[in-house]
Amino acid sequence: MLKRIFDFISALIGLIVLLPFLVVVSIIIKLTSKGSVFYKQERTGQNAKLFTILKFRSMIENHGDKNTVTVIGDQRITNFGSFLRKYKIDELPGLWNVLKGDMSLVGPRPDLPHYYNLLEGEDRKILDLKPGITGPASLKYANEEQLLKSQQDPAKYHYEVIFKDKVRINLAYYKNNNLLIDLKIIFATIFRFSYGSQEIRRIWLSPPNFSKSELDFVKRDFNLSWVSSFGPHINSFENCLSKISKDFHVAALNSGTASLHLALILSGVKKGDRVLCSSFTFSASANPIAYVGANPVFIDSDIDSWNMCPILLEKAIEDCILEHEKPKAIMLVHLYGMPAKIDEIMKIANKYDIPVIEDAAEALGSTYKNKPLGTFGSFGVYSFNGNKIVTTSGGGALICKDKDFIEKAKFLATQARDDKPHYEHSEIGYNYRMSNVCAAIGLGQLEVLEERILQKRAIKSFYKEQLSSIKEISFLDENEDSYSNFWLTTILLSENSTIDREQLRLHLEKENIESRPLWKPMHLQPVFKEYKSYVNGVSEDLFNRGLCLPSGTNMSIEDLKRVVSKIKELYEA
Ligand SMILES: *Cc1c(COP(=O)(O)O)cnc(C)c1O
Repeated sequence: MLKRIFDFISALIGLIVLLPFLVVVSIIIKLTSKGSVFYKQERTGQNAKLFTILKFRSMIENHGDKNTVTVIGDQRITNFGSFLRKYKIDELPGLWNVLKGDMSLVGPRPDLPHYYNLLEGEDRKILDLKPGITGPASLKYANEEQLLKSQQDPAKYHYEVIFKDKVRINLAYYKNNNLLIDLKIIFATIFRFSYGSQEIRRIWLSPPNFSKSELDFVKRDFNLSWVSSFGPHINSFENCLSKISKDFHVAALNSGTASLHLALILSGVKKGDRVLCSSFTFSASANPIAYVGANPVFIDSDIDSWNMCPILLEKAIEDCILEHEKPKAIMLVHLYGMPAKIDEIMKIANKYDIPVIEDAAEALGSTYKNKPLGTFGSFGVYSFNGNKIVTTSGGGALICKDKDFIEKAKFLATQARDDKPHYEHSEIGYNYRMSNVCAAIGLGQLEVLEERILQKRAIKSFYKEQLSSIKEISFLDENEDSYSNFWLTTILLSENSTIDREQLRLHLEKENIESRPLWKPMHLQPVFKEYKSYVNGVSEDLFNRGLCLPSGTNMSIEDLKRVVSKIKELYEA
């Protein structure tokens, strides 16, 4: 009763004070687009009774389906309408609904009937409340349109994530509401009004981060028309990368995957051969084995490095030899920038004389006993894909101590053209060379590699320190031999954690923070299920309990704090 009196008086005062403003807005709406000033829509009110909500019209008239979700940039929203929506001015005529008693100032936002019809059980209690012009859920989702804009499937996200979360918040409000809380919400609303809605910026897992010089390099290419696979930047890029990798020879190629493919070809792997491959990895490590028609044998991880387990590796080699199928190569992955147990693995590889290809796609700049990863095996591979620690937009590199192999790689990567004035081919070639423009971007990026590594390491340390109070979360640390670029910060939830990995991921997603489960092991992938594997359960367990946290080097300290506080929120609730 008190609330009703309060609502009535406030709405009356509000309408009187705002009258001149509302008149001006009405005139502008009339002048800027054809149609009525107000927009009426059926909404669900108290006790599920339908009522007609009054708003300023922000879309072109007769825009069609009224039940679809609209987002910023929607063609149907008028220019002035988008201004009204940004500052929530379109909602002000709702004061009339408050005066009439359809609505309160504060309450759940009156949603479309087809959503409210889906409420079940205790959730239906929020129908006991009068809907509000503002409310705790409306406040949290004041930037709903921005949030939807970033989603692939806005309608689904609107229902699955936002609507369900709003119901939860409104239910909590139902259980505990009083005039003081209402007043706080009203003040918060007015305060935000005057500022307009601030975007809830999405925090991505690992977005590219460019410095200034990339653009300068690229601009020069455009001016000189060096945009194909020829030009000075490819050479410079290869030289630069060579300096980082112990003066090894380098072939700049158009992807990490292409580099792995050529490494297998140059290692002499042929159809029907066996290749031992880390199971805990991204599919790009294993796919090239299939490209050459060989059969991968997947090796599970060891718990200290999360990378290939030396014990299982040796067991697999011995079994293969017994079957007269000695493996032709070992595909050794350094995941998330963390070095594998290189000494143990190289010792085994040397004992049986099997070449090692190091997939260091994620590990540029990481070292083992102060030596760069990629320089231990017969071949090393880096990736410069958009999400990697440094990027050429898309690209990769093959490195090798032996110059002849790299010459051969460059030959194969440019359609295997023989040395003739016309196009003569005596081998099957590939179109795998990096373009000069990509190399230009790469040159700028290599300049900042060292800085990026330090930033990535600082991000990992920050998370580790800030989350140390949560006993259920642990981190993968280096040992005395290894130095990681910590491309992504990964966390592992303890076995008896009350919160599972998906709960945590969805909780972050709801806050517009991207996180991702660790790689799903290859021996569990449908496409590789018929291949042999040596399994100890480690990688499957890591997949079930592990999560990659946002680790972009352009994250601000506020972004990092936002992620940390959202994680803590879940554990301390
Ligand atoms: C990214 C990646 C690759 C492939 O690199 P692309 O440049 O994307 O082809 C290979 N292996 C691992 C482990 C990777 O993370």
